[in-house]
Amino acid sequence: MSRIPLIAGNWKMNKTPDEAVKSAQALVALTAEAEGVEAMIAPPFTALTAVAAALADSPIHLGAQNLYWEAAGAYTGEIAPTMLTAAGCSHVIIGHSERRQYFNETDATVNKRVQAAVENGLVPVVCIGETLEERQSDSTQLVLGDQLKSGLADLSAQKLAGLIVAYEPIWAIGTGQAATPDTAQATHQFIRGFLQKSFGGKLANLVKILYGGSVNVDNIKALMAKPDIDGALVGGASLAAETFSRLVCFNLDGN
Ligand code: PEP
Repeated sequence: MSRIPLIAGNWKMNKTPDEAVKSAQALVALTAEAEGVEAMIAPPFTALTAVAAALADSPIHLGAQNLYWEAAGAYTGEIAPTMLTAAGCSHVIIGHSERRQYFNETDATVNKRVQAAVENGLVPVVCIGETLEERQSDSTQLVLGDQLKSGLADLSAQKLAGLIVAYEPIWAIGTGQAATPDTAQATHQFIRGFLQKSFGGKLANLVKILYGGSVNVDNIKALMAKPDIDGALVGGASLAAETFSRLVCFNLDGN
């Protein structure tokens, strides 16, 4: 089963709408030759509508960095799923480690968000990952298994048909210390096996598992050469269109 790779950029709390549109336009031009790969960018909420217009004639997907699970109401500061779809989003990042670390998100709230995303036709990009301490104490599989079990609780294989998992070891995010391709592959293999046991082989084969954590132009090819690495979730190296376009075009000669 061949999964089309996805290179996704998480712009985090960077770029005004004008800056985001300029980056998106540059990315569209720089990735025009890309083949056999999908791309997605997740700008801040305030730039979504403007970036959607900039991406209108391109195959690049638009993602949000978070969503709330209620449909509407008195939830100051939150964003409903239909607001994202109306803004042009097809994807939404859920449970990024920064959301867990700074905004008290838990596997239980990740689960509510995943449910809300799939109910509203958004592709959930569910982030999981272990701390350095957890890896060093050999708890990685336990931690990731718990995050997947709770984060995807009460969801059927049918509901999760579009699921994307982003494996982002916390020790690799923004540190310049990416996991080695072998370490990432072994962990992705574990994640796929876990999905197989929980939801069956059909879903496990369909799910794209992205690697995230200090992906750059020097390590992307080796990571993407691994059979269970289906793409990348990129933070820092997604901010400059020229650099990110080289990641998106990782499979073209000359990159
Ligand atoms: C991230 O925050 O999701 C991430 C992977 O960041 P970076 O690429 O900068 O390590």
